[in-house]
Amino acid sequence: MSVAQIIAIIGSIPLFSLRTFLPAFLTAFFLSYPEYFPGMGEVSPLPEDAFISQDWVLFLLGGLSLLEIIGDKSTEVRNLIKEAETYMKPLSFLLINLSFIDEASANILEKVQWAAFNPLWILLTVGTLAVYWLAGLRRDFISFLEDIDEDDNLFIGKITSWLEDSLVVFGFFLLIWTGILMVIIYAAVIAFLVFLGKRYDKKLEKQKVECPQCRQSNLPFAVKCVNCKHEMTHVHKIGILGQRKKALVQHVKKHRLNLLSHRRCPTCGNKLQSSKPHQQCKECGTAIFDSPPLKDFIKSQNRKFYKITIFSFFLGFVPVLGFVVSAVIANIHLFSPYRKYIPRGSSFFTKLFIKFLTFLFFLLGIALGFLAAPAYIALRYYLWKRKFIAQTTSVITS
Ligand SMILES: [Zn+2]
Ligand SMILES: [Zn+2]
Repeated sequence: MSVAQIIAIIGSIPLFSLRTFLPAFLTAFFLSYPEYFPGMGEVSPLPEDAFISQDWVLFLLGGLSLLEIIGDKSTEVRNLIKEAETYMKPLSFLLINLSFIDEASANILEKVQWAAFNPLWILLTVGTLAVYWLAGLRRDFISFLEDIDEDDNLFIGKITSWLEDSLVVFGFFLLIWTGILMVIIYAAVIAFLVFLGKRYDKKLEKQKVECPQCRQSNLPFAVKCVNCKHEMTHVHKIGILGQRKKALVQHVKKHRLNLLSHRRCPTCGNKLQSSKPHQQCKECGTAIFDSPPLKDFIKSQNRKFYKITIFSFFLGFVPVLGFVVSAVIANIHLFSPYRKYIPRGSSFFTKLFIKFLTFLFFLLGIALGFLAAPAYIALRYYLWKRKFIAQTTSVITS
């Protein structure tokens, strides 16, 4: 077992925890054609008959990597494979390293006298477990980001996805050029992320408010205790990202409507797991859209709609930016509260149509934002509202 090998195995752990196929493809491609990588002229390529340097294996891995990069940009695809990925990544790590060892270091292994108990196997086992652990950590981190920006209104999902792609490619080059440095950098980054995660959990725990009657700890937004339904005295406002605001709630009814627009229970403030409009909170049993009722929710959305549409007219006089900012504000405050209660997965053509429509309005909005922005908001608001109402009535009749 050479030092370079150890570094290669340890160094590829973080890469495989981010992506299943991309690091596998990069490794296979590098080992087959090292001459394409600057400064790697002396590395001798794998023998032609090696498994991972077969053309079809390279093409397959390349194609899968491409699909992975594209698929990860879609929230739906991301959610679909999130759980399976945690197992696929360590498997991919193990397979690539095994085939690499088989081909390249078979003779080295033979020279090791205690070959039956080669330390390389221990390293590989530990490495595979480390990939599994890190992939789980990454999944939780992504879920945490999705909690903040569920519909990708702020493009947090897309930005992190691109960041991850570039991290894998950048990390790979760092690994083949300056292996040890890369291992140190990644260890530091992971330690920092674990520290941040712990601190965030602590902060959330600290923000909870104790019920004066039963001592149960409640979310800071809770109107009533999740356990005994005692009225909470200090109710904090909820921010646009679902974070706690310092300010205390003045109008309880408005606060409850606000919780509903975040798809949270209007009583205990917990997130509602299902997207069904009519359901009961799993934590405290409150019936959703009972009090405040559905019509109050729609009314409060309508009020916001008038305000934002008028605002967007004035904002629209700013070229380009006026339209973009209006669209983002409308997305977060107007469309998202409805969309949260509509099951995901509209048809491909609906999506294409909406993208086309948005683009058309954007073109108009470059110069005539004061017309395009209100028209765009009104049209999409009407469509979302109609879909939401259809959702609520279809559930009642069925
Ligand atoms: Zn209580
Ligand atoms: Zn509840």
